[in-house]
Amino acid sequence: DTLKKGLEKTRNSIVGNIESLFGAYDEVDDDFYEELEEALILSDLGMETTVRIVESLRKKAREQRLKKPEEVRELLVEEIAGILKTSEPGIIEAGKMNVILVIGVNGVGKTTSIGKIAAQLKSEGNKVLLAAADTFRAAAIDQLKVWAQRADVDIIYHQEGADPGAVVFDAAAAARSRKADVLICDTAGRLHNKKNLMEELKKMNRILDREFPDAHREVLLVLDATTGQNALQQAKLFAEAAPITGIVLTKLDGTAKGGVVIGIAGELKIPVKYIGVGEGIEDLQPFRAEEFAAALFE
Ligand code: GDP
Repeated sequence: DTLKKGLEKTRNSIVGNIESLFGAYDEVDDDFYEELEEALILSDLGMETTVRIVESLRKKAREQRLKKPEEVRELLVEEIAGILKTSEPGIIEAGKMNVILVIGVNGVGKTTSIGKIAAQLKSEGNKVLLAAADTFRAAAIDQLKVWAQRADVDIIYHQEGADPGAVVFDAAAAARSRKADVLICDTAGRLHNKKNLMEELKKMNRILDREFPDAHREVLLVLDATTGQNALQQAKLFAEAAPITGIVLTKLDGTAKGGVVIGIAGELKIPVKYIGVGEGIEDLQPFRAEEFAAALFE
């Protein structure tokens, strides 16, 4: 299926790093666990999550007296599925106004992901409106307009350099008069200045609080999976600056570093909501922990 295909490179890397290990031992021992630790780090799970997984496996295997590699492999898949299962998929609440702020550094696939999410929510019967509040670059506004057209949803935009707060304000008014269910705001979520990012989000939130006090809110952080451990670092920095409610991990199709999803979920406890598996409008999947774990290991 498409998930397996999208994850092919990551899967090959994990199979290469980890599966071969299980075949190499008749019984698990200390050497096995040490090699497993190395293999998980090589698969981009990050140090903290790797240590946590291996400790837990050692403990469970001891308690359940499991020595066969195949049995420990089953424990590993369960453990990973458990780490990934931080929330239910989905970002909107039916019957409510939904406001989604999207942040992320340039080039990670923020615009593309907004377009894909808009198309998906629209196809599910929601009225979606986009706000081009990343006014820092003209290209960002133009690109979002292209995606609005592709997704066949309305967009509110001002000129390059305009006040993002004014865009959000206008978009909120438009969302109300057009009876939108979902307002997705692109933001200039840059990181080179944490204080700027926080201020900008605060300002938008103040406007949105006033306009939609009862709305369901999400702050989505878009991360590029091809950057591996760097994506994990970015997630940590953003999490210090903004109340992130979910992660969109893009470009899983082009990378062997998809194991970073497990590291992000394990370390930050922020749910992964969507994964990007291609450049097309349909190439975005709601993240489901079990399916993801199964696609990696089965
Ligand atoms: P932004 O600067 O963060 O808004 O990034 P864009 O949305 O413009 O995307 C940057 C590049 O990444 C574009 O060429 C997109 O087509 C590509 N891209 C975005 N998401 C994915 C994905 O899931 N898979 C692949 N292969 N490419 C993607």
